[in-house]
Amino acid sequence: PISITDPIEEHRICVCVRKRPLNKQELLKKECDVITVPSKCVLLVHEPKLKVDLTKYLETQAFRFDFSFDESSSNEMVYRFTARPLVQTIFEGGKATCFAYGQTGSGKTHTMGGDFSGRAQNASKGIYAFASQDVFLLLSQPKYRNQDLEVYVTFFEIYNGKVFDLLNKKAKLRVLEDGKQQVQVVGLQERQVGCAEDVIRMIEMGSACRTSGQTFANASSSRSHACFQIILRRRGKMLGKFSLVDLAGNERGADTSSADRQTRMEGAEINKSLLALKECIRALGQNKSHTPFRESKLTQVLRDSFIGTNSRTCMIAMISPGMSSCEYTLNTLRYADRVK
Ligand code: ADP
Ligand code: MG
Repeated sequence: PISITDPIEEHRICVCVRKRPLNKQELLKKECDVITVPSKCVLLVHEPKLKVDLTKYLETQAFRFDFSFDESSSNEMVYRFTARPLVQTIFEGGKATCFAYGQTGSGKTHTMGGDFSGRAQNASKGIYAFASQDVFLLLSQPKYRNQDLEVYVTFFEIYNGKVFDLLNKKAKLRVLEDGKQQVQVVGLQERQVGCAEDVIRMIEMGSACRTSGQTFANASSSRSHACFQIILRRRGKMLGKFSLVDLAGNERGADTSSADRQTRMEGAEINKSLLALKECIRALGQNKSHTPFRESKLTQVLRDSFIGTNSRTCMIAMISPGMSSCEYTLNTLRYADRVK
């Protein structure tokens, strides 16, 4: 169990890990849980190995993050220690980003709140919605109430290096970079929202759009990055922006040896974007002057979030607890470890 007080320290980069519970199928298959979270920062992976004499032993690897959330933690709890500390940033003219990273099925969409298929969850219980609620809460405070601030949202998907508008019937959009390195997604719909309920409607609309029109809806959403943005404007001019990104399944990056050409190309594109993302976040954390944002569409579109003195980022690495996911889990943890 995690017992912590809210973080006061201000980090530019925060890297956390969240373990989901074993699901019904895994329990039925008597799948072993190989992850333990002994304290609020430490996470252990116990990988069963065979010795030469065929006896088994556990090889335990330890990882340390800003926070480690075990299977008992709620979305609200995860939100409180990851994205919530960044909400204030956009009121101070900054850019905030929060990434959900991990293998398909590890809980990225569940955590972000882009899954409202009706059974497990609804859109109002994820990070997209919690962050929006807090934006409106801050807006209602005396300090910000009379500042002519307006809130807009965008929701788009990056699939195989192309941008599609989830709030406009998946219209394909062009990304342009001007001479001053300003990146613009041409024609991206910005919808004005007046309250948290308005935002929920947009999340539901965009999420439905994300999974519509495909025979294998989940297969394709696992190959795309979904980006939900909350934009704060004062008299038309952008003050701050919060980008919440549900990344493509990182195991898809390994599809580069697939027999299918399309799958191979998608895999290569995912690989490229996740590598570029890692480098861009590291550059932000180390205050480097060079940010390799042009390496992928994902990092290009998020360019202004990786530069500037008032940009802050949080990455939540999601992991499945099962022994059969162990290899991917270790890949996820190593990636997250490199980002911090
Ligand atoms: P991803 O987006 O990473 O592919 P999902 O968010 O779709 O994974 O999660 C896969 C399944 O596991 C979903 O049915 C989801 O509801 C469930 N799930 C994920 N994380 C949790 C959690 N922390 N608690 C309970 N169920 C979860
Ligand atoms: Mg998903």
